[in-house]
Amino acid sequence: MKLKSILCIAVITVFMLSCKNDTVEKVKVTVEAKEEVAFNYNVEQFADIKVLRYQIPGWENLTLKEQKLVYYLTEAGLVGRDIMWDQNYRHNLKIRKALEHVYTNYSGDKNSDNWIAFETYLKRVWFSNGIHHHYSNAKLVPEFTSDYLKQILTDTNTKLEGEAFDVIFNDADSKKVNQAKDIDNVLLSAVNFYGSDVTNADVEEFYGKMKSPNPDKPLSYGLNSQLVNENGELKERVYKSGGLYGSAIDEIIIWLEKAQSVAENAAQGDALRLLIKYYRTGDLQTWDDYNVAWTAATDGNIDYINSFIEVYNDPLGYRGSYENIVQIKDFDMSKKMAVLSENAQWFEDNSPLMDAHKKANVVGVTYKVVNVAGEAGDASPSTPIGVNLPNANWIRASVGSKSVSLGNIIGAYNNAGSSGRLKEFVNDDIEYELEEKYGQIADKLHTALHEVIGHASGQLNPGVGETKETLKNYASTLEEGSADLVGLYYLYDSKIQELGLVEDWKKIGMAAYDGYIRNGLMTQLIRLNLGDDVEEAHMRNRQWVSAWVFEKGAKDNVIEKITRDGKTYFNINDYDKLHEIFGQLLRETQRIKSEGDFVAVEALVEDYGVKVDQAIHAEILERNKQFTSAPYSGFVNPVLVPETNDAGEITTIKVTQPETYSGQMLDYSTNYSFLPEVN
Ligand SMILES: [Zn+2]
Repeated sequence: MKLKSILCIAVITVFMLSCKNDTVEKVKVTVEAKEEVAFNYNVEQFADIKVLRYQIPGWENLTLKEQKLVYYLTEAGLVGRDIMWDQNYRHNLKIRKALEHVYTNYSGDKNSDNWIAFETYLKRVWFSNGIHHHYSNAKLVPEFTSDYLKQILTDTNTKLEGEAFDVIFNDADSKKVNQAKDIDNVLLSAVNFYGSDVTNADVEEFYGKMKSPNPDKPLSYGLNSQLVNENGELKERVYKSGGLYGSAIDEIIIWLEKAQSVAENAAQGDALRLLIKYYRTGDLQTWDDYNVAWTAATDGNIDYINSFIEVYNDPLGYRGSYENIVQIKDFDMSKKMAVLSENAQWFEDNSPLMDAHKKANVVGVTYKVVNVAGEAGDASPSTPIGVNLPNANWIRASVGSKSVSLGNIIGAYNNAGSSGRLKEFVNDDIEYELEEKYGQIADKLHTALHEVIGHASGQLNPGVGETKETLKNYASTLEEGSADLVGLYYLYDSKIQELGLVEDWKKIGMAAYDGYIRNGLMTQLIRLNLGDDVEEAHMRNRQWVSAWVFEKGAKDNVIEKITRDGKTYFNINDYDKLHEIFGQLLRETQRIKSEGDFVAVEALVEDYGVKVDQAIHAEILERNKQFTSAPYSGFVNPVLVPETNDAGEITTIKVTQPETYSGQMLDYSTNYSFLPEVN
């Protein structure tokens, strides 16, 4: 399962797998701006797309052997890149090659509207790994004419004709994945998982006959093949060495073998061995064996996802799209979470909860953050922000699963905004500087506290049912709110400095409180249309937490609502007092959970978390208008450059960043094309 969703957007963002439901596209907008100091996250923007860069934090901390492992796994991903293109649509590779040939050879007028439209179209095609939009699945519509394309094809001596040319302009194959009701989804989806005459009924009949040898451990039939009709007979063309995509798969195997030779431990090496065997044979039992081994291989600093994984691109959900994500442990975040986890009992004992609601033996929740070192296929340029695998339910039930947040990807999203938006909504320079200097550390620590301590805290009274029974539809917003409150309470506490987590707890706490209130009472509203209620659980909890403490502190002017030049700001006058009020609300939310008090949770959420002040909302939207940007984001990848000695051995591997998006796309096509145009 890939999580295009961010959960638990605690302060300004955050990344949590335990809580769900915000799309990445939305995240972009929630994110508050931060000044770019050294690293430039923004590459370019075109059509509805924004292309960003990400860094690989902790790269220098890896041993050479670990760096090699990352490098080999990254290459293993890239050599399979074209598989995704061909899976998406049967003419994609042919079209891409022709368009790239034109792009690199054309010497005519590059300032004309037609050329600019052509260039934009190619960038969109690159972004989508084909001619259908990566998100909507609709075929991309070029803003140049077919005559113009014919002309520049001729000018550059490029061949593209017949169906592959016509389809750029006509109505054929208009949807990559067509999920409409009451139609033949297989027949009417352009995705290349099925022969063009294969129907829903064919697929159902073909797989209906398949019986797994062990019904308790059903094989993933159809995951790694194309189903075609050959002379009236349905046949699978299996993705494997010697089979469909074999020439690219052989390259993948070469790099996976190198990776296996530098595996960090036996379990990881064994998993890689099984993955190689799977690529050689296409055998689905081996696929399951591999997944069991991969799921169990949890030690080590490096991990990866590689193969035909997610089935969203198949209207019937059988076939996996080629994907690669290479991950390095987030050492910094892991250390922080380990410290919190070791001290979980202290946090529980010292929290403002009523004694009866505290756990006598609390265990910190395990939560994993990794940093991405490279992505390919289905995961690039548009990427998930978290992944939870394997997909086979029986393996998840019997062996478990790996769930990770992609920390540096989320960080890059958060940093790519303009600093203008932050300036627009802060009350004064002090608030701006605190956010600039401490905002990120505060966010990260809030996430860690929210997950490790917050979700572990508190207990139900004897005889009270689970919150999903007692608090019903309000259970999740209350859970998220109280986890946020645990974080807020301890972010402004000298304990976090004593534990070595921060250098100046007061500044961290102030930045965190400013950011939370600013977001909860104002900036998150930019994600809603005027007139809408707040529906999403995390947005709700950020609002009810903020609005409740604002009201409670009103008589002491703890948080002041300021109007200046017709614009609203919220200024925190008394951080100590706000800390105390957060504690009171935390105590109350835990009481509600512990007692299963539905009436109280309903009042809390409905009174503070759902309705939006229309005047402020209209004002926020107006103030935000100047900052709107493309709705979809994706990434170029850092480039890993090995240096070798005279004997050809790798001595060091450097991380560089691509200068331009088109440069990286062309490099990929030049260096990682291992498939013919027609497969
Ligand atoms: Zn959460």
